[in-house]
Amino acid sequence: MFRTVITLLWGAGLAFGLAIVPTFQAHAQDSDAVTVQKLRNAALDDRFGYRFVETLTTTIGQRLAGTDAEARASMLAEKTLLDAGFVNVHRESFPITAWIRGRGEAEVTAPSSQRLVVAALGGSVATPPEGIETEIMVFPHYSQLLAAAPGSLDGKIAVVTEPMPRAMDGANYGAAIRIRRGGPSEAAKRGAIAYLHRSLGTDERRLAHVGATNYAEGVKRIPAAALSVPDAQQLARLAALGKVRIRLVLTPTSDEHAQAWTVSGELRGGERPDEIVLIGAHLDSWDLGTGAIDDGAGVAIVLGAGNLIAQLKVRPKRTLRVVLFGAEEMDYSGPAYAKMHADDIPRIVLASEADFGARRVYTFLAPASAANTHFLQTLADALNPLGIFPTRQPAISGGDDIAPLHAAGVPVFSLRQNGLDYFDIHHTADDTFDKIDPQELAQATAAWVTTVYLSLQTDLDFRKPAAGSKN
Ligand SMILES: [Zn+2]
Repeated sequence: MFRTVITLLWGAGLAFGLAIVPTFQAHAQDSDAVTVQKLRNAALDDRFGYRFVETLTTTIGQRLAGTDAEARASMLAEKTLLDAGFVNVHRESFPITAWIRGRGEAEVTAPSSQRLVVAALGGSVATPPEGIETEIMVFPHYSQLLAAAPGSLDGKIAVVTEPMPRAMDGANYGAAIRIRRGGPSEAAKRGAIAYLHRSLGTDERRLAHVGATNYAEGVKRIPAAALSVPDAQQLARLAALGKVRIRLVLTPTSDEHAQAWTVSGELRGGERPDEIVLIGAHLDSWDLGTGAIDDGAGVAIVLGAGNLIAQLKVRPKRTLRVVLFGAEEMDYSGPAYAKMHADDIPRIVLASEADFGARRVYTFLAPASAANTHFLQTLADALNPLGIFPTRQPAISGGDDIAPLHAAGVPVFSLRQNGLDYFDIHHTADDTFDKIDPQELAQATAAWVTTVYLSLQTDLDFRKPAAGSKN
């Protein structure tokens, strides 16, 4: 069914590139339904994105925001977009404060000596080089820390051991994230000199799950780290028996004059080029693993979908823009992109980001404006053979990097991937290429190319309020 042939790729109206690529037959006279079926089937056999994430994680590895590795990833992405036939390809830099991990060590010093597995939270300040050695106070639930009186933690290390339950759509992460983001300042307000929390992970391995923290303005910044799940459980058991002392050493550094990179490219629309469907993922990653499921897989999905659309002999009606964000993990990229592209925002008709691993898509959420439309029925029919069924509620989030665009009025869609085991690996040293199943990644890519292609072709105005809406 698929052949390796020399295919003409369409480019900036007149710029063409020659590339040897697996192709499929899609003709000018095909209806959208026929073309989308061919795209979907081609995606299931295509390994373009999978090969990209293999190269990214193998030749570059971790891509912490603001590092040389992140810059090299942006150059690899730029070349990949150009080679695939994208136009208007460019890298944009923006200023960030880079954060570099350094050493992270912890041990119980009393009642007995025991090593603990910890990792500093992104953005954490350092301990003194010799570390901090003091008594801990354990809180089984974060709300108990919030209920503690000011001064009650004076000179101690606060430890929150609240677990995060498993969920298909990852909803529990959204509920638990305040433990990591807000915990250090809440502990400091009550007198704590350092903060530890049970990793926001659903596994039971001795791996810490990192992630960014956010210090509150005007509150003393204290060192903060995540404990592996078994180590948090160990501290809870020890604390139930009596006083426990810990020594903690964290030596991160930061660079206030670093820069991160966002890469983008377009396939210009043939009929309505000023209407842009924007799909994205983030190129940066945490530093312990190689950023395969977060978010090399998302990059693979949107590049894979974009590459298939680039091979079509007939241009889609609207413009497709693929954006590979930098510094998502440190919270910079979404706001930076929305600021740099404020003039574009009225022309972006639909957006979404792939940032939830490498597993199958099981459901999709469309903008409210698509409810009860021919477009939505066509999309549902096209996704059905992939085992994907629509969710009735409208999409209210398209990913962290898309959130500022969404807040500025850009409608979003969401293709939900099976996240039951996503938080077993998320932000750990185990986030490596071997965790990606090429067939599941291909199914997700097929879902994206289906949704994106039909969104490029429809006349539906996604910005228009839904029929029956009072807005
Ligand atoms: Zn991510």
